[in-house]
Amino acid sequence: PLSLPGGLDAPAPHRVADRYAAVRRPGAGHFENTPDTDPSVASFRTWGAEITARVASSTLGTRAVQEARLGSATALDSVLGRVRAAGATWGTWSGAARGAVLHAVGDALEANRAALVEVMAAETGKTIDQADPEVSEAIDFAHFYGTLAAQLDDVDGAAFTPAALTLVAPPWNFPVAIPAGSTLAALAAGSAVVLKPAPPAERCGAVLASIIDTALDAMGAPADVLAFVQVAENELGQQLVASPLVDRVILTGAYETAELFRSFRPDLPLLAETSGKNAIIVTPSADLDLAVKDVVASAFGHAGQKCSAASLVVLVGSVATSRRFRSQLIDAVSSLTVGYPADPTTQMGPVIEPAAGKLLDGLSSLGAGETWAVQPRELDDSGKLWSPGVREGVRRGSAFHRTEYFGPILGVMTARTLDEAIDIVNEVDYGLTSGLHSLDQAEIGTWLNRIEAGNLYVNRGITGAIVRRQPFGGWKKSAVGAGTKAGGLNYLLGLGSWSPLASSV
Ligand code: GLU
Repeated sequence: PLSLPGGLDAPAPHRVADRYAAVRRPGAGHFENTPDTDPSVASFRTWGAEITARVASSTLGTRAVQEARLGSATALDSVLGRVRAAGATWGTWSGAARGAVLHAVGDALEANRAALVEVMAAETGKTIDQADPEVSEAIDFAHFYGTLAAQLDDVDGAAFTPAALTLVAPPWNFPVAIPAGSTLAALAAGSAVVLKPAPPAERCGAVLASIIDTALDAMGAPADVLAFVQVAENELGQQLVASPLVDRVILTGAYETAELFRSFRPDLPLLAETSGKNAIIVTPSADLDLAVKDVVASAFGHAGQKCSAASLVVLVGSVATSRRFRSQLIDAVSSLTVGYPADPTTQMGPVIEPAAGKLLDGLSSLGAGETWAVQPRELDDSGKLWSPGVREGVRRGSAFHRTEYFGPILGVMTARTLDEAIDIVNEVDYGLTSGLHSLDQAEIGTWLNRIEAGNLYVNRGITGAIVRRQPFGGWKKSAVGAGTKAGGLNYLLGLGSWSPLASSV
């Protein structure tokens, strides 16, 4: 394995498990396992602080991360210039040669799985069961884009010229899979990359960049083909986004951030996956047990902090009027184990920063006609640890119907018919993911024809798109700029430009 900053290559999950074994209180009930009295929480805090300190004080040894913490506009321009020059060389490599490098990156990510899981848990509070598949997704992206890179050599009837420099601006909620997917797509297309992590997940970004760059170096890729920069989100951040040296920007974040980026530079060549307000419709023909399980996982996985999360469930006909679905849902939500990631039994972890603003509002106040079926509770004094909430009686057109809260709150809405339920879902400004639970083919057909969202899921959860099988991206205000979905040849083609070959004109 690679030698990572500050000894991060220690087998982290084992250490987590060992600590847990030492402090575990067998038989503690769900919410009674109240974190501020649970020794495993103190252990998590020490462990989280330890690892954060280790990463912060390390020299982040590889070439890509040496650029960290740029202080001045001149330094920024000089990095962009060097990365652009590296991109010009990298773009002359064959797609097959770049693909081989990406496969090596995939192997390096696998070799460093434990370090990636650990830094995600320590820095962002992501639970182990969510962090581990996230590493798998990053590895899948490396091999998938590695294979697609080779296909760029055989594109019929046109010459593809990669963008020289792609700026990658990922979110903190998937601090490994999304920066990895975006960076590796750009590298596969033949573009050099400047990776600017989201501030709450800078450590994750540094560890990821370090692993990728070490593999690039070992494979002989140009020295500056990947740079990791941490810039304050002030003038320098604006200068980075607006720089004419940047040919493409891959952003995953809030719709408002995409608008802000465009205000910095109106002709910004942007590929942005933005916000969502996603719903699962449950009809009377559904397998209700399965529907409950999928709604709970989609709404409360990573404490609801996913663009793809279910924030609404729309119950149709007898599912709305009978108690069965509701009472199962309430039982399932109330029995989620809430805690910190050092405790492997944790099913729902903390939110990343103390709840404030819109999220705090969503966790603590109700709109007209709404009641709590399960009321969120603050479980310690950190402001981050909340038990999950379910609100009933959400009205059409209300704030909760239309607003993304990005936290562990689910709203229940009702409709007389499937068509009415689809209208309710389509009324939202966003269109990222959407789900239907129904065992009726005619209903499934109606829903597929009418629903307005990028990623559609029938009889499964609506998060966790699978690389290769489900390219990911939305409609409406869930996508800004070139709307091609991440995870396909079209996405790579968006990271460069085409010119027809003379012979084919
Ligand atoms: N790719 C993720 C999924 O399918 C969603 C990304 C996000 O929520 O930001 O769950």
